[in-house]
This record gives sequence, C-alpha cells and structure tokens, in this order.
Amino acid sequence: MNILLSNDDGFQAPGIVALYEALKDVAQVEVIAPEHNNSAKSNALTLHSPLYVHRAHNGFRYVNGTPADCVHIALTGLLPTPPDLVISGINNGANMGDDTIYSGTVGAAMEGFLFGIPAIAFSQVEKGWSHLEDAAAVARDIVLGLSDGRLRAGAPWLLNVNIPNRPRDQMKPLKVCRLGRRHAAEPVITQVNPRGDTMYWIGAAGPAVDEGEGTDFHASAQGHVVMTPLKVDLTDHDGLRYWAQTAAHLSAPAEAPPHEHAAPRLPGADRYRAPASAPARPASAPTAPRAAAPAGVLGRRRCGRRWPAQHP
Ligand code: MN
Repeated sequence: MNILLSNDDGFQAPGIVALYEALKDVAQVEVIAPEHNNSAKSNALTLHSPLYVHRAHNGFRYVNGTPADCVHIALTGLLPTPPDLVISGINNGANMGDDTIYSGTVGAAMEGFLFGIPAIAFSQVEKGWSHLEDAAAVARDIVLGLSDGRLRAGAPWLLNVNIPNRPRDQMKPLKVCRLGRRHAAEPVITQVNPRGDTMYWIGAAGPAVDEGEGTDFHASAQGHVVMTPLKVDLTDHDGLRYWAQTAAHLSAPAEAPPHEHAAPRLPGADRYRAPASAPARPASAPTAPRAAAPAGVLGRRRCGRRWPAQHP
C-alpha cells in the first residue's frame, strides 16, 4: 500500500511525525507537507508564486505552500504513481462541523479525493498532542482496516476522523456521525500596531450549536473516535425544485399581462418566456428553500455548550 501523507500544521508537527512512525511499517509512506503552519487554508492553491520542494533530513519533503498545494503537486508531478490512499494529519485540534469547510487538514485530504483517490483526514480533538501515540495507533488501525479491498473498490471516498486525547483503552468505539454545526465565529479582534495602523485578527471559531445526538460534536464529547464520510458536491439538492420554479418565475414574469396593450412587447421577449407547462408561481413555494435551520443558526443566538475555541 502506497500512502501520501500530508497535513496543515507543517512537516515538523508532532502529529505528522507520529502518524508516519505508526504507518511506515505497514505501508510505503511519502510525506509531502507544508513548510509552515497552514491551518484554515481549506483547499487553497497557490497560483501567483512558485512552489519549491525541499527534503528534510528525515526524508520528509516540505513545500512553501498550502496543504492542497502539497497534495496537488505530489499527484501531478512528484510521485511516480498515484498513491492508494491520501492521509492528512494528525491535526492539532478538532475538525468537526463547519471546521471541515475551513480546515487545511481536510483540504489536503479533499485534494486527493478530487483526484479520485480515497482520503482520510485525522485530527485529535484537543490541542496539545496529549496521547498522540494512542491517536496514531488508532489511525493506523483504521487505515489497515480499510486497506483490504476498499481502496480501489468503486468511487473514491473521503473520511473525516476525530480522535479523543485519551489513552487508547479509554477511548470509546469508532462511531460514524454526521457533521454538527457551529455558531458564527467570535467577533474580529482589533489592535493598533506601533505605527498607528489598525490590525484585525480573525476571531475564534464559534461554539457548537448543533451538537445533538448523531453529530460529531456529541459523540466526541462522549469519548468516541468519530468518523464522518464527506462529500464535495455543494449543490443544495433539497432546494433544486424550489429554485427551478423561482428561476422560471423570475425569467418569465409575463404571464398573460392583465392589460396586454399596456405591456410593450420587446423583440425577442418570447425567448425568455417559460414553457407553457411551467407554473407562473411556485405551486407551493416553501418560505425557505430548506428545512428550517435550528433556532440560533440564523439568529446567531448563543446556546448550547461552548466548544473549546480552536482553528481548524
Ligand atoms: Mn492544523
């Protein structure tokens, strides 16, 4: 099994070193990771400056770019053959709920997934690397468990795994969960630099708002190793019908105007008329295109317990 290992904390981070040590005896592992911390870089690619690859004394290669850069250039130029699996992590801190949108750890894995390769993002729930060897052992066992025939079977998959900072015998079993949701981030923090300019610091991630049973927040708070299968399609499938009706309505408002003579017909206007079968108004347009979000999401009301603030 060939594994491409990356992360977003940088090639010297304890998490990637521990994961490499745990995997090197069970797979051929190539490490290609960012030179510096790239938390919250999501899927960013560097397009306007060159990337350089260097090899550290321990054999790891590092790149002056983002996590997605690392995986991208590995798959398109550095590796002689595609790996069987792309792994990212272990991250210093949880990646749950909305974090997965921003996370560089997930971004690296997602880049592999977008190239058609199965991928896993691993994170420890708390920052600080406590019980890191236990987390790496759990990650290795998950990789081994998935390596028997599932890597090349059918469509690629993308998994997000959070591991509690506990001795392994105190972790609860692997649980598959959906993503929870967070509140909006904390307010921006402003400071003044020595030259009198105002600086802005992005605020901490918001606390969990959707942390009920079945979410990654809930299960990890109980001590489970948590796995969430992710997909990349951002389409709002629930809203497709509503928006199709709304779009037809918007682009063809001229439903037999009550006073034809008062409505001048512009050349070519018929091109924008909806098909006769399309309803002029949505037959039963919901007030919102999706099921109502939990109170507090839209209103940004703070409720539920506060999750430790951390960057993805
Ligand atoms: Mn990170």
